Amino acid sequence: MRLIQVRPNTGKPRKRYRAVRRMAQSLLPWTFIVIGALATASVLLSYLFHVNESVYDPTTFAIGTGGMFCLLCGIMLMVLSRNSRLWLELKRARIRCEELADGTWELKEAEARATSLLEAQGDLIVRRDNLGRITYVNDAYCLLAGRPRELLLGSAHALPSLQQGRDSVLPDRTRLLDEQIMTADGPRWLAWREVVVWSEKSDHAEVQSVGRDVTDRIEAERALGQARDAAEAASGAKSRFLAMVSHEIRTPLNGILGMAGLLQDTPLTPEQATYVKATQTSGAALLSLIEDILDFSKIEAGKLELDTQPFSLTAMVEDIVELLGPRAQAKGLEIASDVDEGLPARVIGDPTRLRQVLLNLAGNAIKFTENGSVAVIVESGFLGGEIVFQVRDTGIGIAREQQARIFQEFEQAEGGLARKFGGTGLGLAISKRIVERMGGRIEVDSVPGEGTSFRAIVPLPAAEDGGSETANPEATDFSHLSVLIIAPPTIEASLIERQLTRWGVSAMHLAPHLAELFAQRHWDAVLVDHSIGAEAANHIAGIAQARRIVLITPAERHRLPALMEAGFAGYLVKPIRAASLRAQLGAEQPIESPPLAPEPGAPPAAETAQKPMVVLVAEDNEINALLTRTLLTRLGHLPVMADSGALAFERWHTAHAAGAPYDLVLMDMHMPGIDGLEAARRIRAAEGGGPRTPIVALTANAFTEDREACFAAGMDGFLVKPLDRDRLATALAEAADKTAMAA
Ligand code: ADP
Repeated sequence: MRLIQVRPNTGKPRKRYRAVRRMAQSLLPWTFIVIGALATASVLLSYLFHVNESVYDPTTFAIGTGGMFCLLCGIMLMVLSRNSRLWLELKRARIRCEELADGTWELKEAEARATSLLEAQGDLIVRRDNLGRITYVNDAYCLLAGRPRELLLGSAHALPSLQQGRDSVLPDRTRLLDEQIMTADGPRWLAWREVVVWSEKSDHAEVQSVGRDVTDRIEAERALGQARDAAEAASGAKSRFLAMVSHEIRTPLNGILGMAGLLQDTPLTPEQATYVKATQTSGAALLSLIEDILDFSKIEAGKLELDTQPFSLTAMVEDIVELLGPRAQAKGLEIASDVDEGLPARVIGDPTRLRQVLLNLAGNAIKFTENGSVAVIVESGFLGGEIVFQVRDTGIGIAREQQARIFQEFEQAEGGLARKFGGTGLGLAISKRIVERMGGRIEVDSVPGEGTSFRAIVPLPAAEDGGSETANPEATDFSHLSVLIIAPPTIEASLIERQLTRWGVSAMHLAPHLAELFAQRHWDAVLVDHSIGAEAANHIAGIAQARRIVLITPAERHRLPALMEAGFAGYLVKPIRAASLRAQLGAEQPIESPPLAPEPGAPPAAETAQKPMVVLVAEDNEINALLTRTLLTRLGHLPVMADSGALAFERWHTAHAAGAPYDLVLMDMHMPGIDGLEAARRIRAAEGGGPRTPIVALTANAFTEDREACFAAGMDGFLVKPLDRDRLATALAEAADKTAMAA
C-alpha cells in the first residue's frame, strides 16, 4: 500500500508569503515586457524623428537593444511562470490519483475481509431472489448442502427438511423458524432467521436466511421437557399416594379417636382415664402430622388453591385467640388480640388459609412460651392494602443463626429443645408458602430468652360491602367515658387500654397495689382482672364507685355468682372480644350475665336442644359405622345403617315412597359398588324437583377436589373424618335449620 503524502501545516504567515510570491511572479514578466516595450517604442520614435537626418546615435541604439532584451526576458518569464503553474497542477492531479487508487484498494480489501468473514461463519447464510433462486451462499451452507458454490448459485436448492418446530414473525417482520434437516451426519436442528433485504445489483428484494445449528439446545430442551413431565407425573403419583395413605390412615384413626371418646364417657378408673387420654393425645398428634404432610405435599405439587371471599378480620382473629385461649390458660399464659380499628371491617382473601397460618404462629407461640403472654396484633402495613398480623410471645426465643432455617421444611431451631416441645418442623414451612402464595411475606424478630415476634404481612384489599367501614364502626362514641383497669402488667391489660384509648375513652391501667388509691375516684367503669386474687378483686368491688366489671378465664366461671354478690355488675371472659368489651361499656344498666358457655367436655347445646332426627348412615367400615351410630344415638337421634351405596339408596327410596323421608343422610364417599357420590346422584335424580333430603358427605379425604365432587353430586355438606361429636352435632343442627327454612 502506498502512503499518501501529508503536508505539514504551513499556517497563515506562510500562506500570505505564498500569495505575495505568486503576485511577484505574475508581475515580474509584465514589468519586463512593459519596460522593454517602452524602451523599444522610444527608440523607434527617435529613429522616426531623425530618419531624414540619418544619424547613428549609439545611445538610442543601446536603449533599443536593451528594450528588445527586456521584452524578450518578459516573454520568457511569462512562459516560464505558465509552465511552472502547469507543472504544479500536474503534480496535484498525480497526488489526487494516488489518493483515489489508495481508497479503491482499501475498499477492495474491506470487501475481501467482509467476504472472508461471511465465508468463515459457522452459521449458514443464503440469499434468494424473488423466484427462490440462490444469489449468495456462504461456505457453511455449501458444506452442509455438499455442493460447490457454482452449482448452488442460480439454483433453487433447499436443504432436505424433516420437520418444522416453532415458527413466529417478529414486529419488524423478521421470521424465526426452527427446522430439522437431514445432513450427511444425520438430522440437525437449524434456527433460521429470515429477513427481506434489497439487492443493489438486481434492484430486487431478496430473502436473506441465516441458519444456526441449535441441535444441542433443542435436544436439551426436549430432555428437560421430558424430565419435567416425568417429575410432574411423579409428583402427581406422590399426591395420589399421599391422598390414598391419608385416607387409609384417617379411617382407622377415626375409629381409634372416636372409640377413645366414647370410652371416656363410660365409668373409668383414674388409671384407665389416663390411658384413654394418652390414646386421644397420640391420635390427635398423628392426625395433625398427617394433615401437615398432606398440606405440604399439596403445596409442593402446586395444588394450593386460594379462595377469595370477603371476611371479617376482627372475627377471624378473635376466633383464633378464643380457640387457643384454653391451651394458653392451661399453661398459665395470657393470650389477647388487638385489631386496629382503622382497618377495613371486611377484607377479601382466603380466611381458611390465613387462619391456618395464624393458628400455627400463635400455636407455636404458646408451645414455646413457659411464662408471660402471647398477643396477636393486627395493624395496617406500610404499603396501602397491606395488613400486618403480628404474633408476639415472651417465650424461649430463637437464636439469630436459626431464624432463616426454621422456615425450611422439617427444620427446628434446636434439636434438643424441639424434641422437648414436639412438632414436625413443617408448620412454618407451610405458613411461609401460603403467605407467599398470597403475595405476602413472613418475618421474624427474636431475642433468645426474651421472646419472639412473627409478622405475616399480607396484601388484603377491602371488601366492597364493608370497605368503607372500619373494624368497629360503632366504637367512636365512648369519648365521654373514663375507665380504670386494675390488672397485673400483662399484655392483655395493655391491649385493653390501647383499645379503649382508640375508642376515645380516658383509660388508666394500674397495678393491683396502687388500686386502692384510685378506685374510689370517679370512673365510669372499673375493669378488675380476677387474676389479682379473689380477695383483692372483692375488695375493689366493695370500694369502687363505678360500674364494676370483672375479667375471668373460662375456668373461673364457677366463681361468677360469688363475684356478682361481691358487687360486680358484669364480667368479661378472657381472651376478651372487642364487641363484648364494647357491649359492657355501652350497657347503662347492670348487665344481665350472658348465658354461660358450656364447660369443656360438656355435651353441646345441640345434644339436648335439637329435635330428634332420623338419620340414614351409609358406611361400609364396621368400626366407623359403630362410632357414627353411637354418636348419633348419644346426640338423641335415630340412626338407620346401610353398609353400601346400593342399600343406602334402597332404604332412602323405600322411606321416600312411603312418605316418611329421612331427616338427613350421612354418606361415606368410598364404598364398594355404588359409592357415596353415585348414591347421592341417584337420590337427587329420584327426588326430581321435590323436597330435598339433606345429604352430608362423610369422608377421610381432605382434598378440595373431593369437596367439590361431593357438592357436584348434589350433597349439601362435607364432614372430614375423624368424626367428633361437636362437628357432627353442628352439621346436624345446620341441616335441621336448612330443612326448617325450606319447609
Ligand atoms: P414445629 O413447631 O412443628 O416444630 P414449625 O415449622 O412450626 O414446626 O417451627 C419450626 C421451629 O421454629 C420450631 O421447632 C421452633 O424451634 C422454632 N419456633 C417456631 N416458633 C417459635 C416461637 N414462637 N418461639 C420459639 N421458637 C419457635
